[in-house]
Amino acid sequence: MKRLAIIGGGVSGVTLARLVQDAFEVTIFERENSVLQKLLRTGNGRANIYNRNMEPHFYNDAAFLKDHAPLIVKTLDKLFNDFNIVTFTDAEGRVYPYSRSAKALRALLLKNLKVDVRVDTNVNEIIHDKNGYKVNGEKFDAVALTMGSSAGLLKYPLDNNNAALISGLNLETTELVATIKTIKVKENLKRIENEKVTARLTLLENGNPIASDVGEILFKKDGLSGIVSFILSSYLEWAVLKNPDWHYCLVMDLMPEYSKKEVVKRLKNEDDLDIVFSPNLVAFLKGRKEPLLERVKALPFTPKPKNNPANTSALHGGICLAQLTQNFEVKKMENLYALGEVINIDGICGGYNLAFAFYSAKVVSEHLLRKL
Ligand SMILES: Cc1cc2nc3c(=O)[nH]c(=O)nc-3n(C[C@H](O)[C@H](O)[C@H](O)COP(=O)(O)OP(=O)(O)OC[C@H]3O[C@@H](n4cnc5c(N)ncnc54)[C@H](O)[C@@H]3O)c2cc1C
Repeated sequence: MKRLAIIGGGVSGVTLARLVQDAFEVTIFERENSVLQKLLRTGNGRANIYNRNMEPHFYNDAAFLKDHAPLIVKTLDKLFNDFNIVTFTDAEGRVYPYSRSAKALRALLLKNLKVDVRVDTNVNEIIHDKNGYKVNGEKFDAVALTMGSSAGLLKYPLDNNNAALISGLNLETTELVATIKTIKVKENLKRIENEKVTARLTLLENGNPIASDVGEILFKKDGLSGIVSFILSSYLEWAVLKNPDWHYCLVMDLMPEYSKKEVVKRLKNEDDLDIVFSPNLVAFLKGRKEPLLERVKALPFTPKPKNNPANTSALHGGICLAQLTQNFEVKKMENLYALGEVINIDGICGGYNLAFAFYSAKVVSEHLLRKL
């Protein structure tokens, strides 16, 4: 049997191991004391594993994913069916394990894992020669890089300590920026800290809307949190990296179900704000200088991108996609694969990152099995 080394026991690594374990002699190297630790924290402990609404532009590189995106949902439906894991889909298309428990999902993924798992083993060297690969000095025929990211793991720096490992393989990486997080803003929101609203938030680039969503927004003292903000935080970071000098602004529609005309009819002056908003929000809005209609229908905030708060869920950037085939094999090094979050693919909040980790593992497994 050929030997496959999997560097990282996250979702992408463990899924790949399960899919090829009968055809390869597989070793998973994991630097923590157990595998699938991050999975336990996903979706607030419920693991939002994928999403039935799937479009390439929900990821940072729509062009690379153009051919993959239409296959993801079907592939994952089959994958979970084959793994005998029953799923549940909510009204928004978000898919969870039926148990809505990341812990239970982890147990199911590990139940039939029959490979050599080396925990507490950090891989710090991979050498490629004419006979294959040496991982920490041990010989393998193929290697899968599934080191993921350190998003949300503050004990590691953002570069996951793997920069040297990756550059040692002559692979280039792009700039790393945390995504899916509270959007920090310049405005002082102390007065409305912990207030929640259901609003539409729109991200403008040089005055043009590039992303927009409606839902619950939670005010932090220095930023906007909640699912809508998490989604827009990805679009913001992707845009800022492409066009750092452009002007970015967020506008909040605090009464998205009401037209401007209806708002004008209802709210004649500042004193009417308490008909619709909480006392703290009224006080905050009274302190803003914009015309009343703008304060209600297009309240502007100035985002402060490129930060790495503790509650981030994904990392933008990683191994450059130009070096990979559509099967996630490194073009210039046969039998070396890179998949999951370690490569420069990240999706918006809503199950898109776990989806990619599972999906890319399936693609790599099929390629490896075809090559046997
Ligand atoms: C709090 C939180 C909530 C999230 N919720 C969701 C959600 O609900 N839905 C969703 O789609 N996505 C969610 N995500 C994102 C999702 O968890 C990740 O995108 C996904 O787990 C990536 O899987 P991966 O296998 O590529 O990498 P990882 O899960 O990061 O796994 C990589 C593994 O490699 C190990 N490793 C790294 N370097 C080395 C090395 N040199 N040697 C040995 N081992 C190494 C790490 O310890 C880790 O176990 C969430 C993330 C966080 C942090």
